[in-house]
Amino acid sequence: MKPHKQIKDWGLGLTTPLIIAGPCSAETPEQIEQICKEMKEVNMIPQLFRAGIWKPRTRPGSFEGIGEEGLKWMEIVRHHLNIPITVEVGNASHAELALKYKVDVLWIGARTTVNPFAVQEIAEVLRGVDIPVMIKNPMNPDLELWMGALERLHAVGVDKLAAIHRGFSDAYDKRYRNKPNWSMPIHLKREWTGMEVINDPSHIMGKREGLLEVAQSAMNFGLDGLMIETHHDPDKAWSDAKQQVTPARLKEMISSIDFKTPLENMKPDDRLQDLRRAVDHLDDQLLDILQERFTVIDQIGAHKREHHLTVFQSDRWKDVMESRTSKGIAKHLSEKFMKELLYCIHEESVKRQERQLREAEPIKK
Ligand code: PEP
Ligand code: MN
Repeated sequence: MKPHKQIKDWGLGLTTPLIIAGPCSAETPEQIEQICKEMKEVNMIPQLFRAGIWKPRTRPGSFEGIGEEGLKWMEIVRHHLNIPITVEVGNASHAELALKYKVDVLWIGARTTVNPFAVQEIAEVLRGVDIPVMIKNPMNPDLELWMGALERLHAVGVDKLAAIHRGFSDAYDKRYRNKPNWSMPIHLKREWTGMEVINDPSHIMGKREGLLEVAQSAMNFGLDGLMIETHHDPDKAWSDAKQQVTPARLKEMISSIDFKTPLENMKPDDRLQDLRRAVDHLDDQLLDILQERFTVIDQIGAHKREHHLTVFQSDRWKDVMESRTSKGIAKHLSEKFMKELLYCIHEESVKRQERQLREAEPIKK
């Protein structure tokens, strides 16, 4: 697929799983210093330090970020921790300033990813500049928009790229601030080979409870790192106070996560190969059965054509849905899966039969 440089090749000494931590916002030089000191004290030094300098707030009136001044404080991080720094850029002037202050890695936030104008504007500033950029998913679960932002950066020569999964806005789901959708980063990885995706549990949960569970899920799915908002006094943070954790808590969390070995680029062991062969065989059988099913569907179609019957009959459809779904549930398949599977099979069946009817119609002159 499109060649790009993975995190280990960014020239910053980073490895995966990449651990990114730091406050939601840079507030004061003392705050930055205190966070760094505590990270050192508890021996929880992230690989990359994050700090929001310009804050895209949903409503005006809350803290909108300290601005350029905060970029100067990044020296404090370099002095105490000697690690690279990442900040969010939301427009061209942010990008210019971040370059001026030699920020090591940029990230584009969810509210910016949705806006191709803003992404392009940032990309133009970065044309020909050698700097890694991480792109958060857009607010809405739109893979094209996410890919589009990565492509805009790639097209101007930014080849050190990664993505960040921070969940999606969902008005109806109160468990999360931004609901995770794990199939989205997996789709992205399928579409763009080698694209690494960092998980941001902080913006997914919006609160401290549940951060660890989200982080563990991300590792189970094979995501490539974690970005966790960290503050020495979370309750007093100027933004996202509810979701930030102390460096000590971060350390506890990271040490209790079961980091899995990435299967990517690895030769599967014998047992895994045997099991996969069994799955291959079952898939072949599944395809044979589907072929047989559609042969019968075509025969039904021919019958409907012969007798001038319509394709769809709602009672029959209801019966198919209900009986198969409950049989599926009895076999420990989820209701959601059964419904999606049946919709998919039924839609294809209806389309095939409608095509049969159309093909049989005399051409009207
Ligand atoms: C942030 O990381 O502080 C932030 C604003 O995140 P998001 O773009 O995911 O809302
Ligand atoms: Mn935040």
